[in-house]
Amino acid sequence: MIVILKPDPNQDQLKSLLSWLQEKGITIHTSVGEARTILGLVGDTSQLDADLIAALDIVEDVKRIHEPYKNANRMFHPEDTVVKVGNTRIGGGSLTLMAGPCSVESEEQVVTIAKAVKASGATMLRGGAFKPRTSPYAFQGLGAIGLEYLKTAREETGLPIITEMMDISQLPLFKDVDVIQIGARNMQNFDLLKAVGRQEKPVLLKRGMSATYEEWLMSAEYIMAGGNHNVILCERGIRTFETYTRNTLDLSAVPVLRKLTHLPIIIDPSHAGGKSWLVDSLSMGAVAAGCDGLEIEVHNDPAKALCDGPQCLRPDAFHRLAGKLLTLHETVKNLEA
Ligand code: PEP
Ligand code: MN
Repeated sequence: MIVILKPDPNQDQLKSLLSWLQEKGITIHTSVGEARTILGLVGDTSQLDADLIAALDIVEDVKRIHEPYKNANRMFHPEDTVVKVGNTRIGGGSLTLMAGPCSVESEEQVVTIAKAVKASGATMLRGGAFKPRTSPYAFQGLGAIGLEYLKTAREETGLPIITEMMDISQLPLFKDVDVIQIGARNMQNFDLLKAVGRQEKPVLLKRGMSATYEEWLMSAEYIMAGGNHNVILCERGIRTFETYTRNTLDLSAVPVLRKLTHLPIIIDPSHAGGKSWLVDSLSMGAVAAGCDGLEIEVHNDPAKALCDGPQCLRPDAFHRLAGKLLTLHETVKNLEA
């Protein structure tokens, strides 16, 4: 971090800034120029609030050289992180297909869908038991019993399960879940992030609908700072002026995150487009862009789905798409080799 001082800074204030920085373990390289004095700060500057320093009377400007996230930063961890979930590996060149209903509706429904998506090449089963719905009158999910149905589906198929946790109080219920999903609406629920950071299960962190990459990575940093480095990022579309699609899929997220972070990148084309007929194109685009996997909603009877029916694929459509995606992924890998 570089701190540019105003001309003729008050010496008492400068002294107190320098000793405050030194107390924090920061080494300071001072360069006195004709017009300006510049302080080069070396050490763990991620703990410093650049805005706070910039607001001091003696400070003209502050420039960060490194991003404020450290654990998630590729600069400090050049190799891709590979998150292991049972026999499934997320990241590091493979393509993980996570598929299943938006919400778990019954044991029979989730087991039927789990068998179908597994037969098509999915290696993880998704399904919400606790649902963050815009309307309090809409189906809120089956709750704890929904988690039991997911576990039955796992027993029947061997597929690991990923499901959304909405509140810290639910953590004990999630002890047998394989991957905890933090939804878009909770991306900045910092207490929730801290709680999942203190445990070891992998966490799939969805992008908040108006979150910048930096805000998203700072949320990943919350989880990692607690000791849990098994974080997977999921782009699920952001809010823009466009209303035709449910959200706008930001495919730039794949190359941008690839550059900024070592964490695996998953694309959710279902919540991005909000329409089942968009899922193929968005998924193909995401694989071509180099994502590590997709999370796709699949329902055996979308017209009767209790949640997100319009964006769910039928199992036969998922089967065709999965075949195309796995082939495309191989092609992209060969082209990049
Ligand atoms: C979901 O995956 O079911 C979900 C609610 O997604 P998001 O948090 O991206 O809206
Ligand atoms: Mn959904």
